[in-house]
Amino acid sequence: DLALHHSKTDPSGNIRLYDDAMRVERDQKQSLEKDLADAIKNDHLELHYQPQYDLKTGSPVALEALVRWFHPRRGFMSPKDFISLAEESGIIHDLGMWCIDRACQDRIEFGWTIPVAVNVSPQEFANPYFAGSVASVLRRNGFPGNGLELELTEFSPVQRGEFVYKNMDDLRELGVAITLDDYGAGHASLGTLKAFPFGKLKVDRDYILSLKSDPSSARIIRSVLLLGSALGIPVVVEGVETAAHEAFLKSEACEIGQGYWFARPAPASELKNIPCGTSVASGWYAAHRS
Ligand code: C2E
Ligand code: MG
Ligand code: MG
Ligand code: MG
Repeated sequence: DLALHHSKTDPSGNIRLYDDAMRVERDQKQSLEKDLADAIKNDHLELHYQPQYDLKTGSPVALEALVRWFHPRRGFMSPKDFISLAEESGIIHDLGMWCIDRACQDRIEFGWTIPVAVNVSPQEFANPYFAGSVASVLRRNGFPGNGLELELTEFSPVQRGEFVYKNMDDLRELGVAITLDDYGAGHASLGTLKAFPFGKLKVDRDYILSLKSDPSSARIIRSVLLLGSALGIPVVVEGVETAAHEAFLKSEACEIGQGYWFARPAPASELKNIPCGTSVASGWYAAHRS
């Protein structure tokens, strides 16, 4: 055993300590993986929703579902703390289906008429059974395909297996629209836009958040808006945090905005004051923004 050998020959004991630390980390990871699998089985996950707003009319046009995990001992955990773990361990496939299923149920239960938008990992999208599983969830819930959108974070051409295209086609057939999420944060490529018929293009929030500090951000957002309009794809800007952000986007004729300035992600039951059903009162936006 290599570690043991080193610990014997290295009087400082450094290697041995390193080895122990690695073991602890691995054990913690495994126990967290098990907890996550249990959480999915026992419904200990929750979806919070954040609306996307039509910047012209002020009406919500979609509700983005964001997964939350309340760990029995660690407490609240953000997706950043467990999505990559779920991806590494393969749990992501069950997690993803849980989210789609729950989002469909919430939309029915709360009578929303705008689509729910669920985030999916590139890994889920590369799974040959993905579109088929989505179809079963829709069927089981008697849910219309056009009531569901999927937000797909940019993936590299390398991650693109043959099934990505197949899933895309099959989902389109079901009426499910795909948004390209976090555009500009990863492998932003014009080829991706050309190869896939995205329903929306969502600009990574870093661009709006650095609007003030970095003069190139405004130019980049502007050019993505042009790109979207040239391709006939509505552009969403996420991370809208201030009145100045909103004003900038309106002056650039950006179609859709999302961010803390409009609404923070919240449990479904707390969306009561947000008109997500048919009875969207005109002027609601003006009345609630001052
Ligand atoms: P995302 O899809 O880009 O979601 C936007 C993230 O920005 C969310 O973080 C949201 O809470 C946060 N956000 C919203 N408005 C603002 C704002 O005005 N300012 C700032 N600074 N942040 C804002 P959250 O919920 O922690 O999710 C992080 C990421 O985790 C998501 O990024 C998404 O990629 C991933 N994720 C969330 N739920 C799921 C899920 O169910 N499945 C998968 N595969 N990934 C998920
Ligand atoms: Mg998203
Ligand atoms: Mg994302
Ligand atoms: Mg993002």
